[in-house]
This record gives sequence, structure tokens and C-alpha cells, in this order.
Amino acid sequence: MEKFLKKTYVAQKSEEEQVDIKIVLIIVPIVILIVAIIFIIINIVRIENEKKEQEIYAKQIAEQRIKEEQIKIEKEKEEERKRQEKIPKLTEQGRQNIESIYSSDTKRVFLTFDDGPSTVTPTILDILKEQNILATFFVLGSRVEQMPDMVKRIYEEGHYIANHGYSHVYSSIYSTPEMVLNEYNQCNDAVKNAIGVPEYNSHLFRYPGGYAGGPYATIKAQAKDILSQNDILYVDWNALTGDAETTKPTIEFEMQRLQETVGNKNSAVILMHDAQAKKVTAEALPQIISYLKEQGYEFKNFYSIIK
Ligand SMILES: [Zn+2]
Repeated sequence: MEKFLKKTYVAQKSEEEQVDIKIVLIIVPIVILIVAIIFIIINIVRIENEKKEQEIYAKQIAEQRIKEEQIKIEKEKEEERKRQEKIPKLTEQGRQNIESIYSSDTKRVFLTFDDGPSTVTPTILDILKEQNILATFFVLGSRVEQMPDMVKRIYEEGHYIANHGYSHVYSSIYSTPEMVLNEYNQCNDAVKNAIGVPEYNSHLFRYPGGYAGGPYATIKAQAKDILSQNDILYVDWNALTGDAETTKPTIEFEMQRLQETVGNKNSAVILMHDAQAKKVTAEALPQIISYLKEQGYEFKNFYSIIK
């Protein structure tokens, strides 16, 4: 009996073990499967997340690029607008403004410097910069070719570069009316090269020696029509410092001539020179400016006239 019971117990135990093995055989693969599925799911989620992150990153990069491109385009547009603003445009209003240059409702003054650039020009530019005043330079083509960098500086500092012909030799420029236009173009080409602006045209000429009178009056008058047909206006002056009236002017002399000629004019176009020999004009300039300020003048250049 005892033996039988033992046998039965053994048999039972063996059956239980078999059941256990079966359970293990079922559960283990299920667990492995579940682990595998979890692993796969985790990986899928991870890959999806990475993909999303990459997409977001790529989108951010693309947006950043578009933004940078837009900023670049805006910057270029702004630079082009500023560049265009400095290229004089002659309109009907501009023609009328030149015709009425010597009349104005308010007190205004145009500082103009002829015959440069020369070694005197930088001193004049320094003073103008310090005083925050914009002037007009009637440059000579032959001088522009000698000092292109100085012309570039004049331009970049916002002054108006106008045209005084090429040679300043009366017998040459006034040999024929066409020659006046020719010299204008020669000077304009030199300016274009110096400032690096191929479309530049000041549309503004000052006759060497002035328009009125003299032995070449007829040629000058004929040239006026030719210039006008080519959209070129001219301007003389109605005040001066007398720096071309004597070989050795003094500051006192220039100040006296300035006061005499400016008088109580409302619109004054002042003739001065920045040629090599006109050092005194540069020395007198601070006094000239303070006198005009005291008289209540507003300083203008020809950008406010030709537009
Ligand atoms: Zn001159």
C-alpha cells in the first residue's frame, strides 16, 4: 500500500512537472513575443519621434533660410533704393526749380565749390562733415581723373557732384557750341568711373567763367540750347567769397566779399573754389558757415533742386 501510494505520488509529480514544462513552453514564447512586440513598438515610436524631430528641424532650417533670403532681398532693395536716390533725376519740377533758383520763400544757401578736386578738397570735406552741411562740387573732368578717390568721398558723403567741363581752357571748351557738350560728357564719364555708378548724370553744368558775357557769350548761348536738348541745365551764382578775384585773398577779404554779395538775399548760390591755390577758402570756411548760420540760412545742395 505504501508502495502504491509512493508510485501514485511519483506519477502525479511527473504529471505536474509535465504541466509545468508545458506552461513554461507556452509562457516563455508569449513573454518573448510580448517583449519583442514592446521592443518593436518602442523602436517604432522612437523612429517616428526621430523622424518628426528631423522634420521639425528641417522645417526650422528651411524657414530660417527663407527668412535669411528675405532679409537679404530687403537689404539689397534698400541698398538699391539708396543708390537710386543718389542718382539725380531731372524732372519738370527740377527744371522749374533751376529757373527759380534765386528766389525762395525761406532763407536758403547753396555752398558751391568749383575747379576741384584738389588737395584742398579733403579739408573742405572735413569741415562740412563736422558742421553736418551738404554742399555742391562742380568738378573738372581732368581733375577727377587725377583724384578719383576724392570724388568718391565727395559722393559718399552726400554732396552733389555737378559738372564744370573737362579742361577749363576757354579756347578749347568754347571753340564750338558742341564742344561744351563734349566736355560735359568727358567730365561726366570721369565722374562715373570715379564713383562706380554707370548711370550717373548730374544734369547740372556750370560754365567755366560763368554763363554771362565775355568773348565767348555767343558760343555759350548756343551751347545752352544743345545742353538743354540733352537734359543738362546750367547754374551760375549770385554771391561769392571773391577767392578768384585776387591771387592772394585773405580770410578777411573773403568774409567781406561774402557779406557784400550775400546781402539780404533769400536764396544765395555762393561761388567758391576748391582748387589747389584756394587754401584760404578752406581756412575761411568755418567763419563763412557761422556767418551764414547767424543770418538764418538753411544749407541746401542741388539734390533738393534736381529730383
Ligand atoms: Zn572754374
